[in-house]
Amino acid sequence: MTSLAHFEKVAGALALPGKAVIDGEKLSAVSGVTFDNVSPRDGRVLNQVAACTAADVDIAVASARAAFADGRWRKLSYKDKKRILFALADLMERETENLAVLESLDVGKPIANALSGDVPQAIRTLRYYAEALDKIYGEVGPETQDRFSFVVHEPLGVIGAIVPWNFPLHMAMWKVAPALAMGNSVVLKPAEQSPMTALRLGDLALEAGLPPGVLNVVPGLGGDAGKAIALHNDVDMIAFTGSGAVGRLLMKYSGESNLKRVSLELGGKSPHIVFADCPDLDKAAEHAAWGIFYNQGEVCTAASRLLVHESIADAFLDKLLRVAEPIAAGDPLEPSTVFGAMVSVEQMQTALRYIETAKQEGGVLRLGGNRTRMETGGYYVEPTVFDGVAPQATLSREEVFGPVLAVTRFTDTEDALRLANDTPYGLAAGLWTRDVSLAHKAAREIKAGLVWVNGWDSCDITMPFGGFKQSGFGRDRSLHALHKYADLKSVSITLL
Ligand code: NAD
Repeated sequence: MTSLAHFEKVAGALALPGKAVIDGEKLSAVSGVTFDNVSPRDGRVLNQVAACTAADVDIAVASARAAFADGRWRKLSYKDKKRILFALADLMERETENLAVLESLDVGKPIANALSGDVPQAIRTLRYYAEALDKIYGEVGPETQDRFSFVVHEPLGVIGAIVPWNFPLHMAMWKVAPALAMGNSVVLKPAEQSPMTALRLGDLALEAGLPPGVLNVVPGLGGDAGKAIALHNDVDMIAFTGSGAVGRLLMKYSGESNLKRVSLELGGKSPHIVFADCPDLDKAAEHAAWGIFYNQGEVCTAASRLLVHESIADAFLDKLLRVAEPIAAGDPLEPSTVFGAMVSVEQMQTALRYIETAKQEGGVLRLGGNRTRMETGGYYVEPTVFDGVAPQATLSREEVFGPVLAVTRFTDTEDALRLANDTPYGLAAGLWTRDVSLAHKAAREIKAGLVWVNGWDSCDITMPFGGFKQSGFGRDRSLHALHKYADLKSVSITLL
């Protein structure tokens, strides 16, 4: 069952989704224009996808607004909302293999990761918010004899969800599930590099019984479909995950249109600190390697800056390299592959450019540094490690969003925390120590939305996710995310 031939057969049998899902229909773009959806696995065009623009967005937003206004979803009972969202989760579970193959083909990630990570995590996210939707209570105001006051959560209306390509289905679900759970309608725009699982999600939602218009999926280029959603006067909020550059544009578009709310999950340059009293150097080395190389480094919380105490740095780096050396790029559809292709030729070139710059700026190349598997026509870059990277070097400051690790040595705790915070970003951080006081103090000192002690990326849907500083604002995951998609309304009834 689990062989390359099996997954190639599944891929060959799949009808690859390429049409927008708007108002319950599968539609071509109004213009009739499509774009090539290229697989980074081999550089081949997989299918043609509707290149939606403002005309399509207008139809999708009108459909979402009509659905919200007539209450076909918003006014459904909790019981019915849950039934439909759970039915969607069940359909996704039934389709796990197909969804995983679509994701692997679209973004080049190992099929094993898509099967064990992306798809089940998206399903878990959906079930979490479906289960939570009847556990949100309003408030009763202070009691008085002549007035009864209460606070209710009102859905916002039409949510524009604009998502990236690194975990396409999972990131979409971080927005779609809580937005739907609170009764909103959604217009989802997947990244142009990875539209297929979002489009399939749109189909499955209809099959599960979500009324037409409640979830519309509009593929297209960021500067066309994405911009049109962000500038639309009838969209109430943009929920975004992506780059800081586009995050800035979204705030501008909000100001130029209807002052819609914006929540931004942006990038990071996350520090991973190994103190001299690290309780388990082997485990820390595993986490340091996979913290940067998982998903080819295309992770916003990638552990891209390894800060290691000078007294253990050489020994630690040897351990890290022993973990990293066997991580070889392979065919994403081969089940034993642990490290796949980069999403696009542009992203691969970006990573290779950063590698050249790191060499020129004095970084000591200890592993990788090259494009690989060129014979496939795909976009593969070796896991790459630079030692001796200066805090001011480009590799210490800019997000690569690829498999390139910067190692920097520190002298003492103060130096480590200074280096950790010396970045415009503030998404995630990790630290390894036996000292419980240091762990607590450092966790509070580091300016990041997520801090992991003695284990990189050690929390799940139950904990809020998002950044400080230029990593954005607003939180995905946990019950807190539900509140992002609703507003508080105070109602006072005078008792005559
Ligand atoms: P991107 O910002 O280029 O694209 C993200 C989305 O925005 C895509 O759907 C794209 O089509 C759309 N977009 C592009 N231009 C637009 C415009 N003018 N108006 C409206 N929408 C537009 O980012 P990317 O290259 O897809 O993803 C990589 C970036 O995302 C990295 O910087 C990474 O750190 C970040 N990221 C952050 C998180 C997080 O949770 N914080 C998660 C994943 C990725």
